[in-house]
Amino acid sequence: AVTLRYVPGIGAVAGGAVLACFDDVTEREQAGQMRRDFVANVSHELRTPLTALIGFIETLRGPAREDAQARDRFLAIMEGEASRMNRLVGDLLSLNRVESEERVRPKQTVDLTAHLASTLKTLQPVAEARGVQINLEAPDEAVSVTGDPDQLQQVFTNLVENAVKYGGDQVRVVLSRTDRDPSVRAAAARVHVIDNGPGIDPVHLPRLTERFYRADSHRSREMGGTGLGLAIVKHIVNRHRGRLRVDSELGQGSVFTVILPE
Ligand code: ADP
Repeated sequence: AVTLRYVPGIGAVAGGAVLACFDDVTEREQAGQMRRDFVANVSHELRTPLTALIGFIETLRGPAREDAQARDRFLAIMEGEASRMNRLVGDLLSLNRVESEERVRPKQTVDLTAHLASTLKTLQPVAEARGVQINLEAPDEAVSVTGDPDQLQQVFTNLVENAVKYGGDQVRVVLSRTDRDPSVRAAAARVHVIDNGPGIDPVHLPRLTERFYRADSHRSREMGGTGLGLAIVKHIVNRHRGRLRVDSELGQGSVFTVILPE
């Protein structure tokens, strides 16, 4: 005999096995919804600068045609909007690449002390232009992990750039090593990126690594943010079997911690 049961969202179903089918449907629906949300977000993010570009092109063709000053000003704005689109496409491609490689363990040995020093050097000019000082505190002996140097550079670049963009005037990058980190249950390197900025309201913390999630949308856009930086960081850290932690409170600055097993 076949027993029929009522399953919400599906109707009457036979036996117990159908529950699995119900789960599949739910999962598939959730995945479909996530994909639709993502496409809607990307479209919106691309359309905003595109609409501005089209508007300025029309103005340059019409009212601003003979006004050299206005033309220069509008061209500078258009350049900014085009760069924003370029950054967005670059970050989308990075995210895609990082996601597709997530199951492949990286193999190279990376000396984090030297690696961080060279990454921070490349960020120095941006920091100086904003009046922000970056300091690296590292042990004397080398701290090495097995990793992908380019991807790790992207992790620390994104975290330090955020600390410079949203923080105060001081960024500390602190590297240390431990024989056993409980979160990865192994010997690990820890990197703290600490800023003395306004901090983040704790309500935002659980969602901060979601694609396009911003704690302060206005500031992110003003700073040219794509909303994808921390999503990229999360996937790279996952690929390294590491952990990403955020500790922050309003008025207390923020600490982003990356733990990488050796
Ligand atoms: P974005 O391109 O907007 O910077 P991210 O994914 O890198 O995107 O960061 C997501 C959001 O997290 C940012 O929009 C910002 O609101 C918040 N955030 C990230 N780092 C910091 C920080 N150090 N201090 C304050 N807010 C931060």
